[in-house]
Amino acid sequence: MTEHNGDASIVGRGNKDGAHLFRQWFTELNQTAEHDGRAAYVFVMGSMAELLRVFDLPIVFPEINSLQTAVRRVAHEYLNEAEDYGYSPDICGYVKADVATQLRGGQHPMGRIPKPSLAVYTNACNTYIKWAEIWERMYHIPIFTLDVPGTRAAGAQTWRGDADFENDRRYVAAQIKELIALCEEVTTVSFDIDRLREVMGYANIMNRGWKRVLELNRSRPSIFNAVTDGTIYLGVTNGFRGTATGANYFEALVEEMEYKAAAGIGTMTDEQYRLLFVGVPCYPIFRRFTELFTEWGGTFVNSTYLWFASGGTNLGFEYDLDRPIESLAEGILVSVRDAMDSMFFQDRILVEMVDTYAADGVVYHPIKSCRTVSTGLADNRRALMAARNVPSLFIESDMMDRRVVSEAQLKNRIDAFFEGLASRRQQAAIQQA
Ligand code: SF4
Repeated sequence: MTEHNGDASIVGRGNKDGAHLFRQWFTELNQTAEHDGRAAYVFVMGSMAELLRVFDLPIVFPEINSLQTAVRRVAHEYLNEAEDYGYSPDICGYVKADVATQLRGGQHPMGRIPKPSLAVYTNACNTYIKWAEIWERMYHIPIFTLDVPGTRAAGAQTWRGDADFENDRRYVAAQIKELIALCEEVTTVSFDIDRLREVMGYANIMNRGWKRVLELNRSRPSIFNAVTDGTIYLGVTNGFRGTATGANYFEALVEEMEYKAAAGIGTMTDEQYRLLFVGVPCYPIFRRFTELFTEWGGTFVNSTYLWFASGGTNLGFEYDLDRPIESLAEGILVSVRDAMDSMFFQDRILVEMVDTYAADGVVYHPIKSCRTVSTGLADNRRALMAARNVPSLFIESDMMDRRVVSEAQLKNRIDAFFEGLASRRQQAAIQQA
């Protein structure tokens, strides 16, 4: 990691260091695989990294491994292999890329992925549960479902002190105790509550930092692109949660972003349109997809992805280290619930984002192979349009499968969207004159 120096040379540090950490993480996973070491398989919505680190379990995110095959333009090979093996073209592309990775003995463009000794996942996506059963069948490992109660109805969240909330928190805490016993059994390492406190302390710094970084992008011009730069930061929130490295990274990132905001250094030299992104990025043409917007002076100031794929860390929940288990349960409950809300009650979240980020437009990107995130987006869009007079674009492709990504079609729709934004701006200027 580079050092803090508080001057213009820190601009771009978060991207550089984030990319470096990402490579380092995969190098370590490769080493674990080479030594046939233990690893825990987890997911981004409720990774339980805080607890797993206490048992020194390297953490593997199969969702991230899978999206990396798309970014590195080989996802189709993995998808074809899993489909030849019998998986349907219709199911989540991340699952299929992972199945092919497992069939290849962990071979992956970023290095070898270790086999799981344990899988821990929440109910935040129904696919998680069936996906873990694949590893259970392949490797005969224990799998653990952490059932996190979600929001019962839009706007019905309860908080600490409410009887329903306290029941839910106790329910999660009881499951965490079961998970501790399972981790002790799998690793033969005894649970150490002081180590948990230390890990949670690092997670607190990261959570605080992630919330601040997201807030700082309200500045005009915006200081990072939520789809490209944001995905790098998101990788660190997941891969390094609960570590000193992750905490230091976020302290440095906040410093860089505060500097950029204060100095008026935007992510674009000429920001014309501030956009919100809804859904999962188009990884098969990741850079090009963003260029289709930046070529028109459009940049993404925030996205629902940066919320749900951070497991709700955007809330900035800070653990009370004096009562670690109770507080971990509370943090998991509110964060995973928020991640689910960021998918299932997006209309409300988007109304708030439109207002607080002064968005000029909203881009919906439903994808073929993730029903969890994509179902209901058309209704969601209608609800948002009823609440706010903001233009929106609805473009469909995929996060993994390049067979359903048509760059030419996307470009046509995106160009027409910007032409609409430009004429709307002209009309507004005429009316004001
Ligand atoms: S949220 Fe979507 S992409 Fe992620 S595991 Fe579930 S179905 Fe797959």
